[in-house]
Amino acid sequence: MGPRENCAFSIEDEKADEALSLDSCRSNLRIIDHLIQKYRMDRGRYPEDITELVDSGYLRSELVCPFDGSPYVVNGDSRASCHGSGIHH
Ligand SMILES: [Zn+2]
Repeated sequence: MGPRENCAFSIEDEKADEALSLDSCRSNLRIIDHLIQKYRMDRGRYPEDITELVDSGYLRSELVCPFDGSPYVVNGDSRASCHGSGIHH
């Protein structure tokens, strides 16, 4: 029974981690979206990529997806996205 319990337990842990990563990915996207809008209000244009937000001091450091470490990109519609599309994982 011992090892089996451990196994089941660790599977649940992984699922919890995954949900957590997904949540923080979404909140990262919300933060970046917000900063893109702020950048636009301050400068009259949208940043071309996330690096521009970092270089101009809106972001302290470039955020990456907590799920797999992918960098975020700014879409053509000037919204932040992960893996090049809005919905993923
Ligand atoms: Zn992501």
